[in-house]
Amino acid sequence: MLGGIPTAEHVSRGDLLLGQRSGEIGMLHSWELVTAVDGPGTRMTTFLAGCPLRCLYCHNPDTMSARRGVPVLAGDLLDRIRRYRSVFTATGGGITLSGGEALAQPAFTRRILRGAKELGIHTALDTSGFLGANCDDAMLADVDLVLLDVKAGDEPTYHRVTGRRLAPTLAFGRRASGAGVEVWVRFVLVPGLTDSAATIEAVAQYAASLATVTRVEVLPFHQLGRDKWTELGLEYSLTDTEPPTAEECAHARAIFAAYGLTVY
Ligand code: SF4
Repeated sequence: MLGGIPTAEHVSRGDLLLGQRSGEIGMLHSWELVTAVDGPGTRMTTFLAGCPLRCLYCHNPDTMSARRGVPVLAGDLLDRIRRYRSVFTATGGGITLSGGEALAQPAFTRRILRGAKELGIHTALDTSGFLGANCDDAMLADVDLVLLDVKAGDEPTYHRVTGRRLAPTLAFGRRASGAGVEVWVRFVLVPGLTDSAATIEAVAQYAASLATVTRVEVLPFHQLGRDKWTELGLEYSLTDTEPPTAEECAHARAIFAAYGLTVY
């Protein structure tokens, strides 16, 4: 069981691979019910295992590898989602697929999004956008809200933070916006890493260029994930980095606000 959802650990390796390919089986890290985060209302946020990025500040490094996930049938996850339908209706909430990176398991993500829409449930996709090419137009049509994590606004900083390229993120945000999908941009403020005015300004310019961005969230860096890096035997490079001060957060938010964006 994964928090009350049956797991499919009994299936053979061959069936697991077939199930993953078809989307009948997904590798999950965990799930939780949350309110006022990860989208509007009360949400069932599901963390899928596996992520192509290596963010220096990742507070869930145990979700980076798909091997650390547990197999769950899409039908079993949808059964659980169905049980909360009245809660979602009452609160204006829904489901959020997060990770790790939900688009690293596109077949499974597609099934869950489709299943949720068939139940009339609001869907949010929390993604870095790096694998945006895995989200075809049909899948995008089942997404009501994209939570787009833009980790920096310029390629050198983005690469330093994530080890990957920024361009796919920007392209996915433009596609989502072009398709009329609401977008919330999320930006983690890390002193000494993402806090230069130029970096923040570039994210703000980009967010302001997307017609469907209704909200920007500036998330202060914190050290809550540090011990997990150590436990996993991974090298954590931000040991000496302090969380941003309230003034630094306010300064970053003011840059976004200057572009006419609604900032939290
Ligand atoms: S995209 Fe998210 S899950 Fe992936 S490494 Fe970055 S912070 Fe961690």
